[in-house]
Amino acid sequence: MAAFTGGEVYKAEFEPTAYLEYFKFGGGTLGDEFLTFVLKHYCKTFTSGAVTGHTLIDIGSGPTIYQLLSACESFKEIIASDYMDQNCQELLKWLKNEPGAFDWTPVVQHVCELEGDRNKWAEKEGKLRGAIKRVLKCDVHKSNPLDPVVLPPADCLVSSLCLEAACEDQSSYRAALRNISSLLKPGGHLVLSGDLGSSFYMVGPKKFSCLALTEEFLREALSATGFTAETVEVLSRADVAQHDICDFSGMYFIVARKN
Ligand code: SAH
Repeated sequence: MAAFTGGEVYKAEFEPTAYLEYFKFGGGTLGDEFLTFVLKHYCKTFTSGAVTGHTLIDIGSGPTIYQLLSACESFKEIIASDYMDQNCQELLKWLKNEPGAFDWTPVVQHVCELEGDRNKWAEKEGKLRGAIKRVLKCDVHKSNPLDPVVLPPADCLVSSLCLEAACEDQSSYRAALRNISSLLKPGGHLVLSGDLGSSFYMVGPKKFSCLALTEEFLREALSATGFTAETVEVLSRADVAQHDICDFSGMYFIVARKN
């Protein structure tokens, strides 16, 4: 098991452009497998009418936007957030369409295809750029993770691959769930996605620790922190050969409701 890599290690060693290598969709990376699974479920969740509202907060966005591509069809205002300035800057680069921004086109096209029309990708990029109103600093270990900013409770929270990276053990994971729950209205939705069974992942040459999750633990932690799981999708991996990059054994996608 890798030694826990906390916030200071993220600030010093997490290189956003190296992380984004996972998201060069179609390149046969481990990221392809993850994106294929989660994007299908994000699409289903946000285009079925089951999860809608005015404001959505993404917790620990990192430098990525894939998790918001379907959500921008059902939410007018999206707030992205991350622990690290470098990630916020990388996101802003894409939002402002600046030279050197990551090219999300293949991912956006895939999502548009899932939603029914691959050709609408440019329109979708414009829509998401218009919907993301703020990019804020966030720390899931704080009782108000967006401190010093205080926001009215949101209709929906999304968080992908963040809590398992930020939390050292199960009790800190539950505490982080409680902290982010304070940003959500009662009855609002929490959409969580990520890897199961993963103890580490590589970002370029750097190794980051991960809290190995199981479906059972996720169900228990959600229920202990005041959520009711409505959808739990799990996909186990047959091939765990690529142990040198990330040792995940499966993927999960959960929609839960705050009691
Ligand atoms: N959500 C993105 C990024 C996941 S990588 C995606 O789906 O790809 C893990 C992210 O967790 C990094 O962006 C890192 O900055 C963030 N993170 C680490 N510690 C954190 C903390 N204490 N609070 C919030 N985010 C944190």
